[in-house]
Amino acid sequence: MGPTKYIFITGGVTSSLGKGIVSSSLAMLLQERGLSVTIQKLDPYINVDPGTLNPYEHGECYVTEDGAETDLDLGHYERFLGIATSQANNVTTGRIYQSVINKERRGDYLGKTVQVIPHITDEIKRRIMLLGKSRKYDVVLTEIGGTVGDIESLPYIEAVRQLKFELGPTNTLFIHLTLVPYLSATGELKTKPTQHSVKVLLENGIQPDILVLRAEKNLNRDIRKKVALFCNVEYEAVVESVDVSTIYEVPLLMQKEKLDELAIRKLALTVTRKPDLGPWTEVVNRLKNPEKTIQVGLIGKYVELPDSYKSIMESLSHAGATYKCKVKVNCFHSEDITGDNASGILGEQHGIIVAPGFGDRGIEGKILATGYARKENVPFLGICLGLQCAVVEFARNVLGYAKAHSTEMNRMTPYPVIDLMEDQKSVTEKGGTMRLGAYPCNIREGTKVHEAYGKNFIRERHRHRYEFNNYYLKDFEKNGFIASGINPEGNLVEIMEMKDHPWFVGVQFHPEYSSTVMKPHPLFIDFVKASMDASVVKKDHYYG
Ligand code: GLN
Repeated sequence: MGPTKYIFITGGVTSSLGKGIVSSSLAMLLQERGLSVTIQKLDPYINVDPGTLNPYEHGECYVTEDGAETDLDLGHYERFLGIATSQANNVTTGRIYQSVINKERRGDYLGKTVQVIPHITDEIKRRIMLLGKSRKYDVVLTEIGGTVGDIESLPYIEAVRQLKFELGPTNTLFIHLTLVPYLSATGELKTKPTQHSVKVLLENGIQPDILVLRAEKNLNRDIRKKVALFCNVEYEAVVESVDVSTIYEVPLLMQKEKLDELAIRKLALTVTRKPDLGPWTEVVNRLKNPEKTIQVGLIGKYVELPDSYKSIMESLSHAGATYKCKVKVNCFHSEDITGDNASGILGEQHGIIVAPGFGDRGIEGKILATGYARKENVPFLGICLGLQCAVVEFARNVLGYAKAHSTEMNRMTPYPVIDLMEDQKSVTEKGGTMRLGAYPCNIREGTKVHEAYGKNFIRERHRHRYEFNNYYLKDFEKNGFIASGINPEGNLVEIMEMKDHPWFVGVQFHPEYSSTVMKPHPLFIDFVKASMDASVVKKDHYYG
């Protein structure tokens, strides 16, 4: 194995251009050629990790197997690459400063003044190189969050500038992603914002090697030539990324644009095989040419920002592709579900998912939605808080414990069917203190989840403090809501399912974190299948 090569991806003009998708696509194309690749995200905000952030701020918080609470882009990395990421794959300014300040307190800097350069930039470089030093990767892609020109990303830009100098030109590659807006009034694509953005990079000492231009329309030869000339990049290194209907098509576009070949040539990488994108293309075709459509209602309280449920949306689309089925996700605000309007609001849905979440807001709407799914035999998947809502609903309406609740919402409930986990009782700090990451689970044979997974033992990722209260388990099971998955170490209930129901499953973990394009998650596959069956029944019901 030669030296690890580093690719840095920056963004210009605006945020939300899809840097994470372009990074994942390139990484996947390189992986297809036999290289071992990983991706890292550097986030310029001061939170130590996004675990304490409200989803409205940055979308979903993604959790890795090793229990890191990370940026949602890591979800894309895993979904595209099919590899596990870890704590080292997401670094924030808060984490960088925290380690520098800890070192300063320990006296490691021997009386020196601690400064952004060199101490903060050194720590950034150390975090980037950490992945390379593991000797596991031929290529490390580092995506720098934010937009060039932001004050907060300056130390990152400076750190990677230094790395280019220290590691040498064939060991580092700079890719800059910008926007080429289309002005409909004049019918023109405009390159000026890109020129300005590259100028900002140049002011900071970085000459990009490759430009990826996000555009609504295809770029013609003249536009590419102009950008190449004004931005000092080769003509071939001006790559277009036009809007597509599914993010999973981006690797195919990038391959057409020869982005992977460019990276290989510029980094002098030795590749061992030709890429075979056949299976990937097959999934994209299935996504683009569905033969049926189902409607799935997603009940949450952050639905104004669909990124809050990114992994759930993607998992549904992976599972849908399996059946050539378009899963149309309709988001419903849990606060809008009140009293007896659940059937009016959810009546058209072929399947219902109650989303993860925290706190009291909108909780009764979620509980009503689970009740509706239970009574109306609508396929149901409750994720984390979604399972907890199903438990509360069942306790109240089947077991007759009228005031049953989770102690997260009501500490004084006489029936604490969901309660704080024992080892959480002494926890006072909020950041990184939940039950996080992958834990084992034994699956009961003869259950629906056993059928879905096809095995007796699984590992799934968690992010919670509350848990099913085993004191009530017998009551639940006697009445048909059974524990079908148990954590062997703590005897914690991880999965529950309804016996007399087409498909009603609640999981304390997050299956959505581990669904990938090439390996959709079995629970989502079976949930989609059950919803497809329900859609047929519904049609028969309406049309006879
Ligand atoms: N708030 C619940 C708990 O902490 C559920 C968390 C979640 O849905 N991720 O247990």
